[in-house]
Amino acid sequence: MTATEGQRSASAGLDNIQPAESFARGAAAFIGRTGGFSTGRALRPSTKVLPEHARGHNRSLVLQTLYRAGTQSRADIARQTGLTRVTISDLVAELMSEGLVVETGQREDARPGKPATMLDLNREAFQIIGIDLSGYATFRGAVLDLDGQILERAELPLAGSTGSDATAKVIALTDELVGLASLPVLGVGVGSPGVVDLAGIVLSAPNLGWSGEPLQQILSERFGLAVLVANDANAAALAEHSFGDADSDMMLVKIGHGVGAGLLLDGTPLFGSRFAAGEIGHVVVGTDGGAECVCGKHGCLETWLAVPRLESALAAAANGDSGASADLILREAGQRLGIALAPVVGALNLAEVVLSGPTHLLDGVLATATIETLRARTMAEFHGDLTLRMTTLGEDIVMRGAAVMVLSGLLGVS
Ligand SMILES: [Zn+2]
Repeated sequence: MTATEGQRSASAGLDNIQPAESFARGAAAFIGRTGGFSTGRALRPSTKVLPEHARGHNRSLVLQTLYRAGTQSRADIARQTGLTRVTISDLVAELMSEGLVVETGQREDARPGKPATMLDLNREAFQIIGIDLSGYATFRGAVLDLDGQILERAELPLAGSTGSDATAKVIALTDELVGLASLPVLGVGVGSPGVVDLAGIVLSAPNLGWSGEPLQQILSERFGLAVLVANDANAAALAEHSFGDADSDMMLVKIGHGVGAGLLLDGTPLFGSRFAAGEIGHVVVGTDGGAECVCGKHGCLETWLAVPRLESALAAAANGDSGASADLILREAGQRLGIALAPVVGALNLAEVVLSGPTHLLDGVLATATIETLRARTMAEFHGDLTLRMTTLGEDIVMRGAAVMVLSGLLGVS
């Protein structure tokens, strides 16, 4: 049965529903009620909490332990989580009845006596749909497994669509991806440009003509699935944390048509008072003017760093139309980024800055100038260990981060 058929049979009635599908439907209702992400909630549970919140938290703790460590016995999980054997047995029974955890056999090196039964997250229970709306000309999406590996891909040319036409393209792409899934779909994650609130409403995405677009609700009602919509750079930061070994105190700077950033503090995404944390593209860098920006100001970070601006400056240099060399242009862009980031690094004591964007532009002269500027403008005693590097996740970073949103929002794992 394909996932589409699964969704159809799920909406047809309660007969013959697999435990995993039943879980996904409950999760869709949960996201519908709560909106998913909440501020102040760590991505990865790591300690016990008070009794009134304990059960849900401890469920996630068991799932997270299995998700990251792989096959474990009940005793292994008890040791790692600090929960009692009785609690673990109880939670595992519940998770097995929901199809989220499976027994994988006996421990191979078992000593004489009763061998331990091994458990794992049921990695074959679901697939996830991750969608990246940040491309200038194309919406891209993928079907991913629970480990964040891409199984199927689809894309749709944007062809200048804005407003409800752009929304219709997101629906069409989601529909195609749901059809490509070969297991029940746990949920749909969407990374959108612009400012997105915690209910998945795109408050402002000028390039797509969206203002107050309730994208999460539209997709959720259309497909009957759990849907989570967040800012593209925030999604990218989650991908880097889960699949790129990023530090828990990090900033991911996404450089493309515009410039944005996602922040994790102590492993928790930072959204800000108006959900615009990390929107550094229209911060003016320096007091020396600069080129006019689309927002009307002069010298915004985007005017130095956005890919179209960098490419046209480099083309002018190559033609001899400007007095500057390519190296000078890239060094200046890197310095401006360093100037913009230094107070952020200083205020938050970040351990790592990760750049996502075209490697041929960012890696090298530009990145070197950024880290040198950061080091020169912050205190070596506290910020000297700061690292700056390119992401290793390439162009799939937003789609994989969208999958982390679903994993974290629905299973509490990442
Ligand atoms: Zn601007």
